[in-house]
Amino acid sequence: MSTEQIPYKIYLSENEMPTSWYNVRADMKNKPAPLLNPGTGQPMGYEDLRPVFCDELIRQELDNDDREIPIPQEIRDFYKMYRPSPLVRAYCLEKKLQTPAKIYYKFEGNNTSGSHKLNSAIAQAYYAKQQGLKGVTTETGAGQWGTALSMACAYLGLDCKVYMVKVSYEQKPFRREVMRTYGASVTPSPSDTTAIGRKILAEHPGTTGSLGCAISEAVEVATSTPGYRYVLGSVLNQVLLHQSVIGLETKAALDKYGIVPDIIIGCAGGGSNLGGLISPFMGEKLRGERDYRIIAVEPASCPSFTRGRFAYDFCDTGMVCPLAKMYTLGSSFIPAPNHAGGLRYHGMSSILSQLYHDGYMEAVAVEQTKVFEAAELFARVEGILPAPESSHAIRAAIDEALKCRETGEEKTIVFGLTGTGYFDLVAYEKFNNGEMSDYIPTDAELEASFAKLPHVPGQE
Ligand SMILES: *Cc1c(COP(=O)(O)O)cnc(C)c1O
Repeated sequence: MSTEQIPYKIYLSENEMPTSWYNVRADMKNKPAPLLNPGTGQPMGYEDLRPVFCDELIRQELDNDDREIPIPQEIRDFYKMYRPSPLVRAYCLEKKLQTPAKIYYKFEGNNTSGSHKLNSAIAQAYYAKQQGLKGVTTETGAGQWGTALSMACAYLGLDCKVYMVKVSYEQKPFRREVMRTYGASVTPSPSDTTAIGRKILAEHPGTTGSLGCAISEAVEVATSTPGYRYVLGSVLNQVLLHQSVIGLETKAALDKYGIVPDIIIGCAGGGSNLGGLISPFMGEKLRGERDYRIIAVEPASCPSFTRGRFAYDFCDTGMVCPLAKMYTLGSSFIPAPNHAGGLRYHGMSSILSQLYHDGYMEAVAVEQTKVFEAAELFARVEGILPAPESSHAIRAAIDEALKCRETGEEKTIVFGLTGTGYFDLVAYEKFNNGEMSDYIPTDAELEASFAKLPHVPGQE
């Protein structure tokens, strides 16, 4: 089909939306390593996880075999309020870059939470409600997950307690008010409302917090409050499963026009949007049906894939959560405070870690000033003000498109535009004032953090 026939936006109709999530683990020969009990080092089964997570979500977490998981009707109805999301042909960006590459992006920012996180928030809230729970607790960093979960809980009539990383709580007061408008309670973390929060405050007075600290607090509250469970917006297998809706829609839209991507790019914090976007394509790759280049893009200041260790580690700072085998910088790693570009989590999805380890995908690390340069260029030609997280993917997509300009190759590039940056204007202000700096952790800093990785029998 000729270029002229491909519209600026490829939309699916409501009845072309996926009715099942796709579980990429079913097609993986090497399954992601199981979660381990931090006390005993033994794999955690269904019963072990029940005090922390909702029952049905544990089943999804542990399910390495079922390829398709039906999406309950109530979740599909909620999805229809803001999905299908458009797959946009970035004609204006292509022109600006004078590249023969064809660039597409899947835009997940068209909902109040401003990101893809709502795709999993509604699913997790739904299963909590089904189980008859009163409410859920969670952490939020930049605030998109907390907002998404507040929206889902408001819709279903669940209580929502959010622990927000202190630096974001202070930098993004408006984010907090959006969550409160949807009925959530928001506490800056670390706080004195939990034992672990008080301990962290005593050990690191004046700390601006981290996702790892906030997770520990949210888990403590969930496990000590009857009728509550903890939910997490990234990293976990279940979250990648829910986010497969992004990839399934993307694939359906491309298939409509017979477009086969060469390169698929996504930013990687905990790995959920990337995992969701690539899932159906990775499935084809794993089954030997097709090949794609798949690129994870991470910040140079928090480089889990490119400089981390593939090892069992704690998911949180307080070391109360299960151990996960993943590419990690160590749970004691806290990215430099001058890093404003998001994607601050020390670890990475176990699924993506295994796929990366097995050579099915690549990773690149980019510096934040380069990320904001890409964000600015993109905003000026494509109109959308991108989230700093999403702009990591924009950076890599632009770099690949510029390579095509050198070689003359007409590659098709698809990237995930995960959200909008309206609440990130403090970071944009720094960039616009020329005050943004790059911080790349030294090998010595990383080694110090690796030295604190837990010792698990049978692991190096
Ligand atoms: C949370 C978030 C990310 C990173 O999380 P993943 O789990 O790696 O997808 C990326 N972009 C936006 C807009 C986010 O809100």
